[in-house]
Formats: sequence, C-alpha cells, structure tokens
Amino acid sequence: MIPTEIVLSSGSYAQVVSELSEKLGTPGISHLQVAHHLALTVSIQQENTDLVILKELIPNPCPICHHRLTFLRETIERFENEGSHSIRCPMGHRYRGELKVYYLNIFEENDTEVDKPVKVCPECGSKNIQYLGPKVMFCLDCDWDSGMEPRYQVHR
Ligand SMILES: [Zn+2]
Ligand SMILES: [Zn+2]
Repeated sequence: MIPTEIVLSSGSYAQVVSELSEKLGTPGISHLQVAHHLALTVSIQQENTDLVILKELIPNPCPICHHRLTFLRETIERFENEGSHSIRCPMGHRYRGELKVYYLNIFEENDTEVDKPVKVCPECGSKNIQYLGPKVMFCLDCDWDSGMEPRYQVHR
C-alpha cells in the first residue's frame, strides 16, 4: 500500500506552513509548496485530526503472470478514474480487482521506537517492516500487513 494523500487539521497545517516558511526563509508559502514539501496531495479539514490516506490494489501481484504491479500511484489513479474494477498488470493482463483505502491517524502515537513486536515478516521473512504505529505495520517486500482494516472502501 502507498500513501497518497495527507489530511491535516487547520492547526497542523498552519504549523507545517510556519516551519516551512522558516526553513525556506520566505514569508508566503503557497498550498502547492506545502504539497510539494510533503510529496503528497494535501487537504485541510476542520476536525482536529491529522490523517494519512493509504491505498492498496488487490490482488497484487497479477494472478495470471504473478508480476507485481508497477507505477502503483498511476495504476491506482487509473483504476479510480475508470471505475471498471479492472486492474492492468505490467504485462498487460487485465483482471478484476479492488481498491482498499486506509485512514491512518498520524501524530496520535509517537512511541513507535519503543516497542516493535514484529521484526521479521511472517510471510516472506523480510526484515523490511514498516511501522505506522505501535501495532500497525506492513511488509515492504510482500503483501503482508498486521491485519489493517480498511475503514472505507471505494465502490463505484
Ligand atoms: Zn499479468
Ligand atoms: Zn513480507
């Protein structure tokens, strides 16, 4: 899964802007500069939460040729725009798939350094475990994750 968007409360947004403004030494920071700085689409919401939106296409790899999907960001965008529930693998196969969307609270839990219960992926044995919170993690080398529940699924 990949992060595609960041949703910030107006307070957090203001903080990011002021930090960035200080760093760049310019008083006026545009929304585009913030998005560029975070390398993600940024939206602001009134509620007092900061979220990262992660998306994942399943199944991945392709069930026909077993190649993993490439250019995930573009593939996800195409999937969302087409609304045909069909995923195209790098070899050109089209298969029926699903997009999962995860909303992850950031800043809420900062103690990720303290306790990392999983160091090795139970699926592929890789040590590339990405932690998003004390109990939320996924493997960077395969599809394993800690049972993250999509909170919202896109159906079109
Ligand atoms: Zn394929
Ligand atoms: Zn793995």
